[in-house]
Amino acid sequence: MLCYNKDVRRKKAISSLRYVKTSAATEFLYPFDVSCLLCGDEQGECSHGGFCENCRREIRENTGRVCQKCGRALIAEERFCEICREREREFDCARSCYVYEGGIRRVVTGYKYGAQLYAARYMARDMAELYEAAQMGCSVIVPSPTAKERVLERGFDHIELICEYLSEMLSLPLLKDAIIKEKNIAAQAGLSGKEREENVKGAYAKGAGAARLKGAGVLIVDDVLTTGATASELARMAYKCGAAFVKVLTYASTRQTANTLYGGFYEDKMV
Ligand SMILES: [Zn+2]
Ligand SMILES: [Zn+2]
Repeated sequence: MLCYNKDVRRKKAISSLRYVKTSAATEFLYPFDVSCLLCGDEQGECSHGGFCENCRREIRENTGRVCQKCGRALIAEERFCEICREREREFDCARSCYVYEGGIRRVVTGYKYGAQLYAARYMARDMAELYEAAQMGCSVIVPSPTAKERVLERGFDHIELICEYLSEMLSLPLLKDAIIKEKNIAAQAGLSGKEREENVKGAYAKGAGAARLKGAGVLIVDDVLTTGATASELARMAYKCGAAFVKVLTYASTRQTANTLYGGFYEDKMV
């Protein structure tokens, strides 16, 4: 019952905010001691990842063998996934907390499309922990830009919100206007790897704050890494702006499967 009431409170709070801009606002609305992100069971402050014991079985941390370049879970004893072996990736490396499947897919979907804003802080906390563990050592955070139409539709920018928390947790400046979306590209959802690559080409441009990327260790942040085409294109732009190195941090990534490579089908990633 308590969970239900909390949900109702959250929904009311969300409907009263057209656009949640600051983490301080969400801090107030969504304290850390919330229910399990998946089943809604009450749980304590320190619960790992925001999941209760039961639901933790439904998620897979990306702690096994991963591609040394893009960080996705591998199915074979190799250093790199099929895509990274065949394609030039513009970023130095990418890392992600979870495999994008099961419970994690539901968390991302609920957050992004269901406006479950309280998930952002948990996601950011896991990402901050991974950032530290992987010693990524960047100097600025650059969010993967979301199309304005999507932000208006959803009422919030799901990547920027995660980045605001990350910025606080890691004490790194958040550069929202360094790289901007130049053209409105078709949603990546439903496109094959090859199509995604073509689709994002020229999608990004230098923004007003681009000068701050000169000599910086750039951390590009996104929710899910699928083919890595978006991350690669953003990294290319960051290097154009003079970045010293570019790393990518995402909450989740798709695992390598038999059909990960071009021609494979991805229905999850929206831009
Ligand atoms: Zn649970
Ligand atoms: Zn890879």
